[in-house]
Amino acid sequence: MHELGIAFQIVKEVDALAEKNKTKAVKKVTLEIGEVSTIVPRYLYDVWPWACKNNSKHLKDCQLEIIELKAISYCKKCKKFFDTVNNGVTCPKCKKTDTYLVKGNEAVIKSIEVKE
Ligand SMILES: [Zn+2]
Repeated sequence: MHELGIAFQIVKEVDALAEKNKTKAVKKVTLEIGEVSTIVPRYLYDVWPWACKNNSKHLKDCQLEIIELKAISYCKKCKKFFDTVNNGVTCPKCKKTDTYLVKGNEAVIKSIEVKE
């Protein structure tokens, strides 16, 4: 489980941002995580409170929200998009693997809410 490391990294990043902006406390962090990223949202939810409590100054009781993004791939031959989770790297139409992932492996901080 590498989610703890990821949680620490995000907490550290947001904490530094809060420090820089002289924010007292961060209320909520929203992340966008792609379906085929290596992060398992429920593990991240599990370790989040612990990471906040032990590794931050401004995120002591910060809430986490994860928005999962659908993974989409593109077939170069058919010039069409398809669902990555159901098909992997194989185009469902022509069965070729000359495809690439368009989106779905990202993990980004979408928004940060601060306490007034
Ligand atoms: Zn195809």
